[in-house]
Amino acid sequence: SVECQNIRLSYGATEVLKDINLRIEPGEFFALLGPSGSGKSTLLRLIAGFNRHNAGRLLVDGRDISAVPAHKRNIGMVFQSYALWPHMTVWDNVAFGLVERRLPSAEIKERVASVLALVGLSDYAKRRPNELSGGQQQRVALARTIVIEPQVLLLDEPLSNLDKNLRVQMRQELLSLQRRLGITTIFVTHDQEEAMTTADRMAVLDQGVVQQVGRPSELYDFPCNRFVANFVGTMN
Ligand code: ATP
Ligand code: MG
Repeated sequence: SVECQNIRLSYGATEVLKDINLRIEPGEFFALLGPSGSGKSTLLRLIAGFNRHNAGRLLVDGRDISAVPAHKRNIGMVFQSYALWPHMTVWDNVAFGLVERRLPSAEIKERVASVLALVGLSDYAKRRPNELSGGQQQRVALARTIVIEPQVLLLDEPLSNLDKNLRVQMRQELLSLQRRLGITTIFVTHDQEEAMTTADRMAVLDQGVVQQVGRPSELYDFPCNRFVANFVGTMN
């Protein structure tokens, strides 16, 4: 589980996260929804350890990891921009985190091969990122993150660069992969439909405040305020 207790974060004088309280259950596919600038990426980066909170507690499986540096948290994050290394092949991109962890090369080979098979890219191992479609690059980014077997998976609008058709296809693939792996996943999106159709539960964030948390149908049928009603109700 991932638990945010009374978390606050400021950039300079501006408070961007205001008393965030959330509990994401083990194995959950949890969507974080909100308009641009509401603090979604800031919250993910905080959980990953790239941002420090000014107050509150961050617990993973009951342990306070506030003081644990990013590279020692067993948390995988896929960035909005993918950030693949352009000069490296697909194989090397995926293997990188394992090489960095100094795993035996036989184990690296086995794990990279099995993850590439999992995301359907076994035949693309020797390609470079610029020789792949957007959806294939997205899968490499995902493969690179899950190969380290993270305890928690954080996805920051991983599908936003894809066209509508591919996005719908990829989100189903993502969901079925998440179900197979059973990894607790927090998925940022500002696409209401994406959250409504895939998430076990979701939180709507506005101006650094969690407006409502619940199952998609709960937020849709019983929005707690006008903001949530407008935001979740306008499906396009
Ligand atoms: P989007 O949907 O556009 O990605 P978001 O919900 O992810 O938005 P954040 O990136 O978390 O929003 O930003 C929240 C607020 O914090 C914004 O007002 C942003 O301008 C501000 N902010 C983000 N990063 C920094 C930073 N490094 N320094 C100062 N302010 C920042
Ligand atoms: Mg963002």
